[in-house]
Amino acid sequence: MTTILPECDIPIPQRKPHIVCHEPGNVVLPACNVQTVPGDMTERGCTFAGCRGVVGGPVKDVIQLVHGPIGCAYYTWGTRRNLSDTKLHRKYCFSTDLTEDSVIYGGAKKLYNSIIESHELFPEAKAVFVYSTCVVGLIGDDTEAVCKQASEKTGIPVVPFHCEGFRGVSQSLGHHIANRTLFEKVVGTEEPQTTTPYDMCIIGEFNIDGDAWIVKPLFERMGVRVLSVFTGNAAYHDLPPMHRA
Ligand code: SF4
Repeated sequence: MTTILPECDIPIPQRKPHIVCHEPGNVVLPACNVQTVPGDMTERGCTFAGCRGVVGGPVKDVIQLVHGPIGCAYYTWGTRRNLSDTKLHRKYCFSTDLTEDSVIYGGAKKLYNSIIESHELFPEAKAVFVYSTCVVGLIGDDTEAVCKQASEKTGIPVVPFHCEGFRGVSQSLGHHIANRTLFEKVVGTEEPQTTTPYDMCIIGEFNIDGDAWIVKPLFERMGVRVLSVFTGNAAYHDLPPMHRA
């Protein structure tokens, strides 16, 4: 591989370290974990995309609510390959659809109403995950308070993720935020029905194209009980007992 500067990026030579052309036998890494230089194409998503798309998104039976303008909701069902055996997170897209008036008056009321409405429409959902986007960080909605209030009203967990897109240089920070949030707010809140000496969790497996469906049975054939896969094809209630594996 070698870095290249496509014709469309000639006026922006700083783009060169960011674009790589595959070349067998010559491995070159593109510039990583640094702020991207805007141009014809960028090679990474934002913090919100990493949080929602990679780690939180695969949880299959929760309402994945994007708190932000509708454009951020692009990172929903069309763009990820994390499969599941339910349709809720693949088929539907939930967004608070913030517009100019929300920037002036705040988006908290819209968020609360969106949580209540989506819960009423999809009562089978076991929890609501709320992802903050750039505009939410700028207007300063108190999503923690709204989620707490909505959780009391709906009777299911409502988990806020503080993953505003601008927080990091890439989607990598979004992975960390999702991991930390789930381990701090969800893992440990329920006990498993039973434990065995051979319990384990598979962490960092997102069932891309169904690979968890191949890996998990292999462990089970070895006599290991997989308590949870974090988070490929995971149900919400698979996550709280993870601390016992
Ligand atoms: S960078 Fe901000 S505005 Fe763009 S998709 Fe990410 S969260 Fe939304």
